[in-house]
Amino acid sequence: MPSIFSRIVAREIPADIVFENDRVIAFRDIAPQAPVHLLVVPKSQNFANVAELAAADPELLAEVVSTAQQLAAEHANGEFRLVFNSGETAGQTVFHVHAHVLAGGLSESSLA
Ligand code: 5GP
Repeated sequence: MPSIFSRIVAREIPADIVFENDRVIAFRDIAPQAPVHLLVVPKSQNFANVAELAAADPELLAEVVSTAQQLAAEHANGEFRLVFNSGETAGQTVFHVHAHVLAGGLSESSLA
């Protein structure tokens, strides 16, 4: 079954896409928790969470991080919080690895 993020990659459901290359896509979170709240997502849904991604393809994880840095510079002042919820009890709802990029003036409580 394609994940909701794979369906965004396939343009089956709409999203406000802010970056895309052959391995990574980034779009605005539908329920933003900060002035800038983007999701950076490897296109492959082979990895459920960041630990799986780090073990299997550390270069792709590094690309997710550098994409987050680039987008924080474009959409805010270059400073950002990077969150990978990992597991249901940690708040993960989509089991296709993704980084939350939170920026643009964060309060203490603005955790995704
Ligand atoms: P998680 O809870 O797994 O860490 O993060 C999933 C995120 O995906 C949530 O912040 C949620 O708002 C976002 N999300 C879920 N469905 C959609 C969607 O269809 N479009 C977009 N743009 N974001 C979504």
